[in-house]
Amino acid sequence: MDFQFSDEQKMFQESVRRLSLKHFAPKAFTWETGSGGSYPWENAKILAENGLMGMRLPEEEGGQGASLMDCVIAIMEITKVCPHTGDVFQAGNFGAIQQVAFLGNEKLKKSVLPKLLAGETIITAAMSEPNAGSAVTDLRTTARFEGDNVVINGSKIFNSNGDSAGYFCVWCRFGTGVASSGAVIVPADAPGFSRGKTEHHLSGEHHCMLYFDECRVPKECVLMSEQGFKKLMSVFNVERMGNASRSLAVAELAYEKSLQYVKERKQFDRPLCEFQGIQWKLADMKLRIEQARWLLYKAVVEADRGLPSALDSSLAKLACNEASEFVCREAIQIHGGYGLSKEYPLAYLYARARGWVIAGGTVEMLRNRIAVEILGRNFDQRPPKPPVVKE
Ligand SMILES: Cc1cc2nc3c(=O)[nH]c(=O)nc-3n(C[C@H](O)[C@H](O)[C@H](O)COP(=O)(O)OP(=O)(O)OC[C@H]3O[C@@H](n4cnc5c(N)ncnc54)[C@H](O)[C@@H]3O)c2cc1C
Repeated sequence: MDFQFSDEQKMFQESVRRLSLKHFAPKAFTWETGSGGSYPWENAKILAENGLMGMRLPEEEGGQGASLMDCVIAIMEITKVCPHTGDVFQAGNFGAIQQVAFLGNEKLKKSVLPKLLAGETIITAAMSEPNAGSAVTDLRTTARFEGDNVVINGSKIFNSNGDSAGYFCVWCRFGTGVASSGAVIVPADAPGFSRGKTEHHLSGEHHCMLYFDECRVPKECVLMSEQGFKKLMSVFNVERMGNASRSLAVAELAYEKSLQYVKERKQFDRPLCEFQGIQWKLADMKLRIEQARWLLYKAVVEADRGLPSALDSSLAKLACNEASEFVCREAIQIHGGYGLSKEYPLAYLYARARGWVIAGGTVEMLRNRIAVEILGRNFDQRPPKPPVVKE
C-alpha cells in the first residue's frame, strides 16, 4: 500500500500550513484557557473563506468533493499550529456535519449546511447521556411523531462546544429497544430546548448538558427514525478519524518541541540529547508516532465510499490516542519543570491527548470492538439474564 502524498496533496498541505501560521498562530493556545476562553469564530470564518469547511461535500452542496485524506492532511496542519482551530475544522468536516450530509433529506441539508459551511455556526454530536456513556445503546432520550413535528424528551451530557453550537445531532429512540434508535437535528432555538452551565475538561475545552423538555422540531429534522444505530455509527467512524488525526498532530507537535529542546537545554555541561536515557525516549516517541500514522492512513485510504471500516477506524483511533498520550507525557518529562508549567504548551497538549483517550469511544471500548471484528463474534457486555421459569 502506497501512502505517498501526490504533488497536489503536498502543495495543499503546504498552503494549509502557511494559512495556519499566518492566521491561527498568533492566538494559538489562548482560546480555551487564556484570555480568549471562547469559540474561535474568527478562525471558523477564515476556514470557510478558504474552502476548508465541508470539504468532502459535493460541489453542488457547497463543498469541494475532497477526499477523506485531504481532510486528514488539513486537520493535522491546522492542529499542529492551533489545536482549538483543529477542533473547528473537526466540527466543519468530520463531526456531526457528516451525519447531516450522509443521512439528511434535501430540505434539511438546504437549511443547515450553508450556515455550517459559512462558519456561522456549528453542529455537535449529542450522544452521551448521564447513564449511557460507553453503553450508548442504553440511551433514554425519546422522540415521538406528533402531526408534522417530532417531540423530544431527555438529556445529554459532555456536549463539546455545546455552549456555542447552533445545532445538535441528538441520538434518541423512537420506541423501545435498540432497533428504534435514530437521530434528530435540533436547532438551539427549538422550543423546549435548554443548556446547562458551561463546564470545562482538563484542557479547558467547553462542554455542557443539553435538556429536551417536550422539545418540538419539524419532522424534516429527523435523520433516521428506526434501525438507525448501525448507520449512525458507521458515519461516526469518520468523526473518529478526525479525533485520531488531531491526536497524532498533537503528538507530532510535542515530539518536535522535545527534539528542539534536547538540543538546546544543557545539564552536567552537555545538551540533554547526549544522554542515552533521553535518546531512548525520543526513539520510542518516534516509533509510536509512525506506528499510529500507518494505521490512520490505512483506515483513511481504504475507507469505502468515504466511510472507514469499524476495524480500521478502531485500530487507528486506538493507536493515535495512545501514541499521543504517551508522546505528550514523555515530552513533559523531557522538559522537566517547564513541561508541567501552564505557561508552556506541553501540559495543555497532554490534557488534549488525555481527553481523546476517552472521547468518541474509550480505548477500552475500541479494544472490545477490535476483538469482535477479529473473532467474528459479538460478546454481550451485559450480565446474563436470569432464566425464565415457566410455571
Ligand atoms: C474531551 C471529551 C469530549 C467529549 N465530547 C462529547 C460530545 O461532543 N458528545 C457526546 O455525546 N459525548 C462526548 N463526550 C463523552 C464521551 O463520549 C464519554 O465520556 C465516553 O463515551 C465514555 O462514557 P462515560 O464517560 O460515561 O464513561 P463510562 O462509560 O462510565 O466508562 C467508565 C470507564 O469504564 C470503561 N468501560 C465501560 N464499559 C466497559 C466495557 N464493556 N469493557 C471495558 N471497559 C469498559 C470505560 O472505557 C471507562 O474507562 C466527550 C468526552 C470527553 C472526555
